[in-house]
Amino acid sequence: MVKIAVIPGDGIGKEVMTEALKVLAQLQRDDPSLQIDTTIFPWSSDYYVQHGFMMPQDALATLRNYDAILFGAIGDARVPDDVTVWEFIMPIRKQFQQYVNFRPVKSLQGIVSPLAKNMDIDFVIFRENTEGEYSNSGGHIYQNQPQEMAIQNTIMTRLGIEKIVQAACNYANQYGKSKITSATKSNAIIHSMKFWDEHTKQIVARTAPTLTLESIYIDALVAYFVERPQDFEVIVASNLFGDILSDLGSAIVGGLGLSPSANINPEKEYPSMFEPVHGSAPDIAGKGIANPIAQIWSLALLLGHIGRPDAEKRVVWAIEAVLQAGAVKTADIGGEASTSQMGDAICQALANSK
Ligand code: ATP
Repeated sequence: MVKIAVIPGDGIGKEVMTEALKVLAQLQRDDPSLQIDTTIFPWSSDYYVQHGFMMPQDALATLRNYDAILFGAIGDARVPDDVTVWEFIMPIRKQFQQYVNFRPVKSLQGIVSPLAKNMDIDFVIFRENTEGEYSNSGGHIYQNQPQEMAIQNTIMTRLGIEKIVQAACNYANQYGKSKITSATKSNAIIHSMKFWDEHTKQIVARTAPTLTLESIYIDALVAYFVERPQDFEVIVASNLFGDILSDLGSAIVGGLGLSPSANINPEKEYPSMFEPVHGSAPDIAGKGIANPIAQIWSLALLLGHIGRPDAEKRVVWAIEAVLQAGAVKTADIGGEASTSQMGDAICQALANSK
């Protein structure tokens, strides 16, 4: 029995998670060999307001006993953003060595890219997830004095770079890709980014010699995402660059409501965590109109990770079948369907295809 920890979180996180759990139940009805047990944890901003902390002291020890985590979204006006990030998301990513942030960017049947061209976009982003620009190193001193200053250090380690590039190479080898694109800025960030370039080159040459490696400055790369996104196959990037590229990536294939992600510990020593790219969307929370596809696709990635690529494929197929049929679409993709109508339609597509 595979054990999954489910953390719906805040805002639309709770709404889209309900739909992902419906889809999981449907898959289990269709295929009794899918033995998955879920436990729901209430850790969220509500929990913070009640208890003064985002999750209990022993939360990480508890999560450690699970095979994977399915997460919704977190963020609420009552809790400062740095608390939700540094007391919840970052401890899970760092403690569980989820150093790969994996984000597919793929045109789905039935969705027209806002680039207004009929592009076949299909690439993945490997974003370094535990160090780089998002390091808790630095300081802010002399507050309210003329000499006030803030320093934020970027920390790049050889091991950190090697592990994320290796993960990208492994994926490229496994899926028969021909090219890896590295996001850099070594012309201006001459210490850490040169270090990134050197080690990226070495790892690709050593472990995936048949792959072409192209290093592209981040400012040019964002333009290429708009001009020729179909040229990319696998992108490897530092934490900050990967974060920005991922949101742009989701925008060019139809928006946040369609974009899944995975925080992966490739060694499977710790549980990996699967979550939509979007946040808690306070502007639409409680209205029942959020698109649950990003959450449901995140569930699909989780299923692939726990050794059920067949179930992953079925879910992605069902999402595309519903989008292509076109009758059920949520507001973000030009329709009027509710969150639960979209979840129900995906379950129905699964049931019909059994
Ligand atoms: P965070 O800082 O946590 O990313 P945010 O409010 O900046 O939070 P999101 O919560 O991702 O960002 O929302 C950005 C915009 O996208 C909002 O207008 C929101 O309504 C919309 N959005 C996000 N997710 C969805 C979804 N699943 N369905 C429909 N619209 C969504």
